[in-house]
Amino acid sequence: MLLQNWWYTTLLGPDAPIRPPLAADVKADVVVVGAGMAGLSAALRLADSGHDIVLIDRNICGGSTSGKSAGFLTPDSELELSQILRRFGVEGARHLWDVPVAGIELITSTVRKHGIECDLQRQDSLFLANDRSGIADVREEVAARKQLGYPVTEYTAAQVAKVIGSDGFHAGVRYSETYGIDALRYCQGVKGVLLDRGVRIFESTEAHAIDGHTVRTHGGSVTADQIVVCADALSPHFCRYAPEVGHAETYLTISAPLTDRDVKALFPGDPLQCWDSDLIYSYWRLTGDQRILLGGGSLLSTYVRNAVTSPRVADHIVGKFRKKFPALADIEFLQYWPGLIDSTRDLFPTIIRDPQTPWMQFVLGCVGLPWAAFCGDFAGRHALDTESQTDHIFYEYFRPDRRFLMPLWSERLLGKPIVFALNNAWAKYYQVDRRA
Ligand SMILES: Cc1cc2nc3c(=O)[nH]c(=O)nc-3n(C[C@H](O)[C@H](O)[C@H](O)COP(=O)(O)OP(=O)(O)OC[C@H]3O[C@@H](n4cnc5c(N)ncnc54)[C@H](O)[C@@H]3O)c2cc1C
Repeated sequence: MLLQNWWYTTLLGPDAPIRPPLAADVKADVVVVGAGMAGLSAALRLADSGHDIVLIDRNICGGSTSGKSAGFLTPDSELELSQILRRFGVEGARHLWDVPVAGIELITSTVRKHGIECDLQRQDSLFLANDRSGIADVREEVAARKQLGYPVTEYTAAQVAKVIGSDGFHAGVRYSETYGIDALRYCQGVKGVLLDRGVRIFESTEAHAIDGHTVRTHGGSVTADQIVVCADALSPHFCRYAPEVGHAETYLTISAPLTDRDVKALFPGDPLQCWDSDLIYSYWRLTGDQRILLGGGSLLSTYVRNAVTSPRVADHIVGKFRKKFPALADIEFLQYWPGLIDSTRDLFPTIIRDPQTPWMQFVLGCVGLPWAAFCGDFAGRHALDTESQTDHIFYEYFRPDRRFLMPLWSERLLGKPIVFALNNAWAKYYQVDRRA
């Protein structure tokens, strides 16, 4: 397998020209730093406001995490509904589940409105039990969806085998209104929409400091009334909130196109987007050209300090898949690539509007494209007209000083990866945090 991001390989070409870097000192009403899903969503919201918007990214639009992703658009990114329900109760779970649901709506409506070609696939989500403890996870998810009144279909092992070509799973939970996309093409498509609306976009432009209202980059600066930072892998020199964010690594692989027969062997019914109940779970879906996009990792490779690229992890992911689907053992996997997902200690995003610097917002640690889309759009809406917005509650849910199991200073004793892993596990499996 070749170590290369498939989306880059298939993007490169004359239809996606790179915007030149910033090479002057410019002024704007709003500058957005970071053009992943969050930053692009902020800019898209602002582009309709009639104000002068600048968007900068040190890579290309979508060139970091968003453009490496598997493009699953499901609310279930890293936190399941039952886990959010346990932590926040019914009212909180409704508020918070609405975040990724709204994010999916933002992304899919943008695709349709602007005719963005990004391989949008309507695919139901299917969460699969790998073993007995997985059956309990599936049942909890079914119960949570029923309690909140969300549609759901529960499968026994025998029923699972009819929708997915494997008898290796013990139960499943399925729900709809979920999609798959080529997220790099989506980001580049939104870039085109923004340019058409007069947003000034500078790629290859790294912000290295913010002084008051001015964002400084290596080739120039942007001075703006409002600053929205949606950047990943932040350096503490650039942003004092950087320590709030850690990361986890995940890998993706992509296969050669499947024959129609292979597709039927994998999905006897409609193609679905699937993931299993393992702690380091595997996930897979079909692209429009019938390739299997397969992701996962290993315990050792997930909480790493710096990115590692191990072909063994990719082989492990493919090997695990082949065991579950022996009929597809001959499918060739062509490329693999790892990526780091920024996250906070409890896997919820952090959105900061410091009362001392109300012209600046930071959108950090969005785990999942739908969460990033909502949070970027939220920051965009609140940048110019926060008074007329009705969802200030998310500044509360996503405030940086919410309750975590372990404080940041414990990293000095245990190291960041361990502190983040323990906090993540606590938030997922144990934390109860009812709002007053
Ligand atoms: C392999 C992989 C598979 C995944 N699969 C899925 C999936 O199927 N579904 C899902 O929902 N999520 C998935 N994710 C997670 C998802 O990609 C992220 O949660 C999401 O993209 C975060 O979006 P973002 O805009 O917050 O961050 P990013 O996409 O990382 O955007 C941040 C941007 O800021 C820019 N930047 C950083 N620093 C600076 C600076 N100083 N100056 C200027 N620009 C800067 C970066 O270049 C980048 O473009 C996956 C992630 C990976 C790695």
